[in-house]
Amino acid sequence: MQKSLSERDQAVIWHPYTQMRTAPAPVGIVRGEGALLYDERGNSYLDATSSWWVNIHGHAHPYITEKLAEQAARLHHSIFAGYTHEPAVALAEKLLPVLPGRQARVFYSDNGSTAVEVALKMTIQYWQNKGIARKKILAFRNAYHGDTFGAMSVSARSVFTRAFDDYLFEVVFIDTPGEENIETLLAEVSSLAPEVAAFIFEPLVQGAGGMLMHSPELLDRLLALCRERGILLIADEIMTGFGRTGTNFAMEQVKTAPDMITLSKGLTGGTMAMGITTCTQEIYEAFLSDDKLKTLFHGHSFTANPLTCAVALASLELFLQPECRANRERINTLHRQFAVELAYHGDVDNIRTLGTILAFEVSTGEEDGYTNNLAGFLSRFFTERRIMLRPLGNTLYILPPYCISDEQLAAVYQSILDMLEEYGKQWR
Ligand SMILES: *Cc1c(COP(=O)(O)O)cnc(C)c1O
Repeated sequence: MQKSLSERDQAVIWHPYTQMRTAPAPVGIVRGEGALLYDERGNSYLDATSSWWVNIHGHAHPYITEKLAEQAARLHHSIFAGYTHEPAVALAEKLLPVLPGRQARVFYSDNGSTAVEVALKMTIQYWQNKGIARKKILAFRNAYHGDTFGAMSVSARSVFTRAFDDYLFEVVFIDTPGEENIETLLAEVSSLAPEVAAFIFEPLVQGAGGMLMHSPELLDRLLALCRERGILLIADEIMTGFGRTGTNFAMEQVKTAPDMITLSKGLTGGTMAMGITTCTQEIYEAFLSDDKLKTLFHGHSFTANPLTCAVALASLELFLQPECRANRERINTLHRQFAVELAYHGDVDNIRTLGTILAFEVSTGEEDGYTNNLAGFLSRFFTERRIMLRPLGNTLYILPPYCISDEQLAAVYQSILDMLEEYGKQWR
């Protein structure tokens, strides 16, 4: 008998974030359409977390497919040093004006982590090029900025980084702002400021840290102080960008403008891998010199891949249509209605919604939710129901593609209510 995709996988593949000894057999996906993915047996799965937060318009979107095919017939790839091409230029032309904070230049790379690496290198070298000794990097506790070494360094130290902690560079971690700590936080940053090169942060929502949310007003007070004290602001909008938080970009909800933005995930509508780092004219100009050493020596083989650029441009066109915003508002309304219903449930804590994100904690009475059995129970429960929800420890969240229908969203909500009932019966 012919082996299934899942069986063949188990002989040759090593999966991300996966303990391969105990992980259940992976589901073999063969096709996607809208908010659904189909496995090799023909079962459909409702993609309630946008395939790791990347998909915004739905799977195999016909317009994106068409633009990809058009580009594929013309040019697949070309070196991007000394050469350029239409998709890269057109994407930058269309993207820069819609970004917050007078972004003037686009630097292309391959994924979210590389976009962060580029931003870090730009800020570090910016100060060197200006001959000013500012070396410290600030980041939030619970931050997540990626899995490469620079990106890991500015991310929270956790079980995910433990094996590498000795190899990560030093970063000053500060608390996210709240009413109770804002004054001490401002004082702390103020005293560190003269030595600080840059502050990297996930605006409004810390995604991998557990969909933790903070207020735009308090974030703005912190950012305004940083700006006043010369600290460069890197807004990591890799998850929050392209409509996740209600506005097109989360930074539209604060007054202080970022000096740099990192983008990936929704950038290509979840079709292909790409990272973008943007910066202001002021940062760009610090690299213009007759001195070769002031050059930004960074690049990747597939920098500005034309196929990927064409797909990102197509996704951006769809994103800027009024229908896309209307869909996001529709999801937000439904989320908020469900949040009210969910609040009656005893096993649920800290329900929060922002834009198309809804998150809450399943009460456990335990500290570290990630490694306990609850995560296993939740994963199994939703996989069996063919709803793709992947909890972060005991944090459960919905982050759907914007094309998800009211009925599909209702099915996700119902699965959560069913899970809570089962949890109440069996788990406690
Ligand atoms: C996912 C994520 C990254 C890393 O992106 P990858 O493409 O997975 O490397 C960085 N920052 C934030 C905020 C993210 O959510």
